[in-house]
This record gives sequence, C-alpha cells and structure tokens, in this order.
Amino acid sequence: MDLVLSAADYYFFTPYVYPATWPEDDIFRQAVNLLIITNLGGYALYFFFATLNYYFVFDHSLMKHPQFLENQVQREILYTIRVLPWMSIPTMLLFLLEVRGYSKLHDDVAEFPHGWTQLVVSVFSFLFFTDMLIYWIHRGLHHRLLYKRLHKPHHIWKVPTPFASHAFHPLDGFLQSLPYHIYPFVFPLHKVVYIGLYILVNIWTISIHDGDFRVPRFLKPLINGSAHHTDHHLFFDYNYGQYFTLWDRIGGSFKNPSSFEGKGPLDYVKKMEEEKSNCHAGNGHKKEKLLNGEHSKTE
Ligand SMILES: [Zn+2]
Ligand SMILES: [Zn+2]
Repeated sequence: MDLVLSAADYYFFTPYVYPATWPEDDIFRQAVNLLIITNLGGYALYFFFATLNYYFVFDHSLMKHPQFLENQVQREILYTIRVLPWMSIPTMLLFLLEVRGYSKLHDDVAEFPHGWTQLVVSVFSFLFFTDMLIYWIHRGLHHRLLYKRLHKPHHIWKVPTPFASHAFHPLDGFLQSLPYHIYPFVFPLHKVVYIGLYILVNIWTISIHDGDFRVPRFLKPLINGSAHHTDHHLFFDYNYGQYFTLWDRIGGSFKNPSSFEGKGPLDYVKKMEEEKSNCHAGNGHKKEKLLNGEHSKTE
C-alpha cells in the first residue's frame, strides 16, 4: 500500500492539499491519506467492476425469481455505500502498520532469497492460505452466536446480484478480508503481487455473485464459482469457500451446485416463465407446482 500512498502524495496530496511543513512520513498524515485511499479505492473497485458485471454478465432474468427482493439492487448498493467507510477504519490501521514497515512486503525481487521462483510460489501460497482462512472464518460466521449479529445482512439477498458482493456488516466484511492482511505480516510477498491479488479478490467476490453459472468443464470440480456461492445464499450451510472447493470438500460442506443439476434459480425462472406462457395460451394445463422441495432453505 505504500506504493499507492507514495503515488497519491507525489501527484496529489503534497502539491495540492497539505502544507509543505507536514512531512509525508508523519503517522497521522499517513493514517488520513490511507483512510481516503481505502474509501475511494473500495468504492471505485466496487462500482466499476460490479456495474460492468451487472450490465454485461449478470442474467437479469434472475430478477424475476420469487426470492428476489423489491428494489434489491438499490438496497444492495445503498447498504454497501453505508458500510464501506466503517469497514475501511480497521483496514486502514492494518495498511498503516504495513506502510510503517512491520510487514514482510518487498518491492525488489532481489530481496527474495530464491528470486522469481519464490515470487511465483508466493502467489500460490497466498491463494492457499487465504482460501483456507476465509473458509473457516466464513464458516465461523455461520455459528448461531455470530450469524444474526454479523453475517445475516449478507444473506438477506437470497438471489444476489454483483452489487451484493460487498454488502456486509462492516465487521463481517473486515473479518473476511483479514486473511489478506495477515499473510504479508507472516510470509514475504512482493508489493505489486499483493496489490494485484487484493484487487483480484475484490473482482472475484463480485463475480461469484453474478449468477453466471458457467465454468469450464475441467475446472468445475475445483472452482468455487457463482453457482456454488448462489447456493450458499439459498441454502446457507454449503459452499463457504472463496476461490476453490477444496476446503468445503475437506470440511464436509461441499454441495454440487443446483444449477449444475438443472435445478438452479435460473432454471426455476425459466420453468416459471414457461408455465406462465402455457397458462396464457389457455391450453388447459393446470399450473404445476414448480418447487421441487429443494428450492431454498429458510433460516
Ligand atoms: Zn455466508
Ligand atoms: Zn455472498
């Protein structure tokens, strides 16, 4: 984050905002700047990628699903706008520790004893580490003592849109991002790799809420995609994972997505539409019950 902070100081804060007497390495100035950067960066990532996804990937017919709430998109956005600043406060404190030199982040490959090999391995180890911790943190958030207070706001959306991706109680959102902050304090990581992976997880979080259930066949058993996460919103106790299905399989919470079996929310909407058009055609068909007993689970 110090790369971003230095750039913001160089191009904006130092020439245009702060008096020359306020040193760039003053801790209070760094805290204020990091808070501004975290908020603006968070909103920018969220609105840019969620909007792109909403218009170009998200299947809008999902909005006809009976569990899609009234004004849901507006509510998801408003909720996120309200909570992001709160989420950014503890996040800023961790970024501050990192900027003050307490992390194991490096900006030169030469600083890694095993050079490029170590850098490549660090990407995989970062993904493994964060995927594991997010699984257990998310699963912990479903514990009855925590669920109602912290995690329930994210489960209001049974059929989420990309805009639900960051709609969390602030503490819930922060806890689920914690593995990303812990890693560079424990293991060496390149700063650019870190920023790249941080942006990537934000995009990924949006993508698993987009209702695009397609995954390349060879990746289907491995990747925790939108099909898995949509089922998590519908059925609660399954598919807690982030990138991969590994920890759900180890933890016994893996569920083959309903949309892979032709029983997903999109299939439901399609059936519903077919039923409707049959009824309108007046062909005498009785309206069949669409629910097959596995439509969703109530809390
Ligand atoms: Zn959950
Ligand atoms: Zn979600």
